[in-house]
Amino acid sequence: MSKNTNSGIAAAYAQPLSVLDIHLDRVARNYLLLKKKVQAEAAGGDCAAVVKADAYGLGAAEVSRALYKQSCRHFFVAHYGEALEVKEALQGLYGVADAPSIYVLNGPFGAPAADFAANGFIPVLNSPQDIDYWAQTGQGDKRPAALLHIDTGMNRLGLSGGEVEALAARGDLSRILDIRYVMSHLACADEKDHPKNAAQLELFKQLTARLGIAARYSFANSSGIFLGPAYHFDLARPGCALYGINPGTGENPMQGTVTLKARILQTRKIDRNGTVGYGATYSVSPPAICATVSTGYADGYLRSLTGRGTVVIGGKTCPVIGRVSMDSVVVDASALDAPPRPGDWAEIIGERQTVDAVAAQAGTIGYEILTSLGRRYRRNYTGG
Ligand SMILES: *Cc1c(COP(=O)(O)O)cnc(C)c1O
Repeated sequence: MSKNTNSGIAAAYAQPLSVLDIHLDRVARNYLLLKKKVQAEAAGGDCAAVVKADAYGLGAAEVSRALYKQSCRHFFVAHYGEALEVKEALQGLYGVADAPSIYVLNGPFGAPAADFAANGFIPVLNSPQDIDYWAQTGQGDKRPAALLHIDTGMNRLGLSGGEVEALAARGDLSRILDIRYVMSHLACADEKDHPKNAAQLELFKQLTARLGIAARYSFANSSGIFLGPAYHFDLARPGCALYGINPGTGENPMQGTVTLKARILQTRKIDRNGTVGYGATYSVSPPAICATVSTGYADGYLRSLTGRGTVVIGGKTCPVIGRVSMDSVVVDASALDAPPRPGDWAEIIGERQTVDAVAAQAGTIGYEILTSLGRRYRRNYTGG
């Protein structure tokens, strides 16, 4: 064996088993595309970034910084702790005049109100209880800032129609709270022709009119932006599209933002009939080449990809065979001209295997694939 080959093998052994490349320049480009769409179609409309759940698994600190540099000034998270992370990440990038607004979707939970206020975090008020609690945290004549969430058809979070009526009847909302935006959330926006979209839009207009306060409005998530200008209002709230997930069902206008590859640990020439993996659920017979890839369900390679997933090795698509294990998965590499070698790469997510495609194989959505990405990958951020 030549010295070169030896050092190549040594290098492969010394390097990480799996690498997640996160392309911040593509996240930025996706943001600008969405923002341009919102601004072109709705006069004065702005575009936030939803960076909850660690920016859908990509890294809230890195993504928030990259988007702040693209003039994003509105950030949505779900939890107080996530808001702290975003604030810390952005510290040093801005002065008093261009401070970002950080909104907490799940409401003023998770920390004392004084901590929310001291950090300038703006909770989304989802219920009459949220409203009463948050209103009484005001100091002197300073009204606490908040977003008000009206439910228009999710039955998940937000005031019901009846609760909006009751609030309007009280007539003190603008006096007790500084409502920055009144918002609602679409249930079926990824299905362009779903009748629920127009119904929710209509109800949103009715209920906000009933509220009877001067306010700005926020309605569209990623998919909502693509339903047209009527859905844009003052602040769009895209999440998934920033990260390359298709906001609709046609050709994807967004760019993929992650590349995930894992090493082949071992290859095996099958020389007699047998089975692969736990439960002996998959039968193999010669001639066949199996390759064991270093990714498993503990890395977010979902167990439901058993019998359905594929990886790309040397340009060839290789199907997952046998059950996905915790730390590895076996694929059939028989289609390759020559057996792959230990240390070679298998592409899990990338050009050939989009997040949406992997999600379809797993019977889930791209959101779950991204937010499940494990902690064991070497993470490389590029283009930030
Ligand atoms: C998560 C979330 C969003 C972002 O939705 P995407 O479909 O990822 O664009 C927007 N608004 C609310 C209320 C959310 O919970």
